[in-house]
Amino acid sequence: MAVPLVDSYGRIHRDLRISVTDRCNFRCTYCMPAEGMTWQPRDELLSFEEISRVASLMVERFGVDNIRLTGGEPTVRAQLPRLVSMLAELPVDLALTTNGATLALVAEDLARAGLRRINVSCDSLRRERFAEITKRDSLDKVLDGIDAALTAGLAPVKLNVVVMRGVNEDELVDFADYGRRTGVVVRFIEFMPLDAQEQWTARQVVTYDEIVARIGSVYPLEEVARGSAPAERFRYADGGGEIGVIASVTRSFCSTCDRVRLTADGQFRTCLFATDDHDLRGALRGGASDDELAAIVSSAVAGKWAGHGIGQVHFIRPNRSMSQIGG
Ligand code: SAM
Ligand code: SF4
Repeated sequence: MAVPLVDSYGRIHRDLRISVTDRCNFRCTYCMPAEGMTWQPRDELLSFEEISRVASLMVERFGVDNIRLTGGEPTVRAQLPRLVSMLAELPVDLALTTNGATLALVAEDLARAGLRRINVSCDSLRRERFAEITKRDSLDKVLDGIDAALTAGLAPVKLNVVVMRGVNEDELVDFADYGRRTGVVVRFIEFMPLDAQEQWTARQVVTYDEIVARIGSVYPLEEVARGSAPAERFRYADGGGEIGVIASVTRSFCSTCDRVRLTADGQFRTCLFATDDHDLRGALRGGASDDELAAIVSSAVAGKWAGHGIGQVHFIRPNRSMSQIGG
């Protein structure tokens, strides 16, 4: 029988984020440097069999019931649908976060392999601005990818927008319009200090309050009960759909966090902002038994901290960028 993965603050962890690669076909300015990224050598990435073993263990031993594949950009990993079909055997809600650039080519295969739902990241609906942020002229491909995901029956399709002051804050209502038109759930994310350029300042964060006020002034909003997900949810009073706001900075949800992470190179992390890794790859490749792997996981979670502490004097930036941790 599964034993819940509880930390010393009583939080139960049921959500596993798996990064399948640290590579990416975009270079979003807030996520990775435009030049000079050094990728993990292939043989240091976990194989699909190794990922699958960890995922099965997390489900069987600890009752994990949510798995999300991320990266880097997960769709650049060769044969991703094969991994999806392996994980789809598990009794979990299986999802994927992608930049959408090649989604039009793979959405159908992913859905057929057993993927249920998908989040696509897109920070501007204006072609030039999109290219400036991502360093790729791919807005049309991403929008086509979203259409392909809808056609393939992935549901819900969510669109994640990182809102940055002076960059895209003037597009809040455009994104709301896009969501209302397409049925995609748009989620606005506060900018977090995980940028590879280390240029984050609190001033660049467009806050939850500002986002809700701006959209609500055009389309009145009603709060929806939140559940355990980090997004605060709102519905349009006129029935035009739903949005989410992920206020990781101004309303941190650390006290109810139920997430753990596996990096592409097989390191187990208990927080996006963790400053330490727990080496599952070494254990896997050294012949560890399931009991030994489970012991590494439970001792890491037992020692999980209360929260990231952004804005407090003791806050330390993690030693990996978002693309290397897995968003
Ligand atoms: N490549 C995929 C993508 O872009 O969706 C998956 C990985 S990406 C690191 C996951 C999510 O993290 C994306 O929605 C991205 O916008 C978000 N992200 C990256 N850096 C961030 C930051 N500094 N603050 C807030 N969100 C960030
Ligand atoms: Fe790549 Fe996603 Fe990071 Fe953009 S946010 S650079 S798409 S990993």
